[in-house]
Amino acid sequence: MSTGDPKKYGSVDVIFVLCEICHWCATYFDKSRIPYNRCPICKSTALSTFPILPNEEFTFDFDEKHGVELEFGIRKGKDKGKGRQ
Ligand SMILES: [Zn+2]
Repeated sequence: MSTGDPKKYGSVDVIFVLCEICHWCATYFDKSRIPYNRCPICKSTALSTFPILPNEEFTFDFDEKHGVELEFGIRKGKDKGKGRQ
């Protein structure tokens, strides 16, 4: 087992980015890769970012009547209590 890996998952935030204009969305595992407030598709600046914690999960839903719906929750399942990725 080596501890020399500079990238620890525990220190990386997952960021969900959503464009409010064209509804382009992406999940980033590295903050430095997020396009700076500009949508790569429609070039609008109406981007929303949502940080996702390692023990959280979310569902993404798009409906013409209701728009975009995001539902956040605590991840349930087998890996209870452990921060294993
Ligand atoms: Zn867009």
